[in-house]
Amino acid sequence: MNFLDGSLFPENQDKLVITAAPYGPEWVPSDFPEDIPVTMEAQIQKAVDCYNAGATVLHLHVRELDGKGSKRLSMFNELIAGVRKAVPEMIIQVGGSISFAPVGEGEIAKWLSDDTRHMLADLDPKPDQVTVTVNTSQMNVIEQMDARDIAGTSLGEPDGFRAYTEMVVPSTPSFFEEHVRRLSKAGIQSAFQFYNVNSYETVERMIRRGIYKGPLICNWVAIGGGMDQPTIYSLANFLRAIPDGTMLTVESSMLNTLPINMMGIAMGLHVRCGIEDNLWNQKRTAKMTTVEQIEQLVRISKEFGRDIATAKEAREICKIGVFYDTVEETLAAIGYAPNAKGRQQGWLNKAA
Ligand SMILES: [Zn+2]
Repeated sequence: MNFLDGSLFPENQDKLVITAAPYGPEWVPSDFPEDIPVTMEAQIQKAVDCYNAGATVLHLHVRELDGKGSKRLSMFNELIAGVRKAVPEMIIQVGGSISFAPVGEGEIAKWLSDDTRHMLADLDPKPDQVTVTVNTSQMNVIEQMDARDIAGTSLGEPDGFRAYTEMVVPSTPSFFEEHVRRLSKAGIQSAFQFYNVNSYETVERMIRRGIYKGPLICNWVAIGGGMDQPTIYSLANFLRAIPDGTMLTVESSMLNTLPINMMGIAMGLHVRCGIEDNLWNQKRTAKMTTVEQIEQLVRISKEFGRDIATAKEAREICKIGVFYDTVEETLAAIGYAPNAKGRQQGWLNKAA
């Protein structure tokens, strides 16, 4: 990505797209009862509150009435339908790093592969985006946290601490290539979650081989523990690798979230906040709700002179619903050099 003269002036930047991640699937309701919605009605209302505060992308997970994260496709469908009805323009992004169990006998036939995550392509109503991770990675979300961040929460308990330290996000080529094909076929955008330069490079190869033919919409997930560390060096290294047409949202965790988002705002990138990423103000004197975190980013961005995108503008910036016909068209639209004739484009599978 080039940063030419004037690239830090808001007049030369897109309006800011704020992604809200208000459902916090890693927490239990008692970790932050004031801001963790449990009933379906409350989960829909949370989306509305985030939208009204200035968020235009909703990173969505669903909770069951018992407070546990839902693995039921039917619950996802219900929440998506409810959000769509309440705030029709909001971009719905389903968090894809989850798997589903079949609800009943009849659902078993819908298990189209051994990896049930493919069922995300069958969500109805369909979301705008599903997050896609590429290449199996360690996801030790606790590595960049401080003991004070999780004291008194379920992640501070031995079982939770162990589970979230040892967490692995599985995504091998047989999964992600097929997943991206199915999402594209369903008209759902793949929102790539890049943990480092190599997961991005694999997607470039997928694009060069025609496995993915859409805009490059992605997050840089700087939460450590197997993913990039939240520093200017790793961010700059990542930005050097990606083409100019990328729509990049920066993401971090706990007290790193706000500074990383401030860098993102300053540089013309986009931002993510919410209790899935962070619970605290910068002095840890109080927890911050997702809406408070959105309002803070809106305030800061306005101070930078950078306006907040409306939902309609965010849909254009994210190129929702846009797919390309050919590899060449995709490369040109994203800002890549064309494929060189005669050279192999990497070793990913190219089955139609
Ligand atoms: Zn998530």
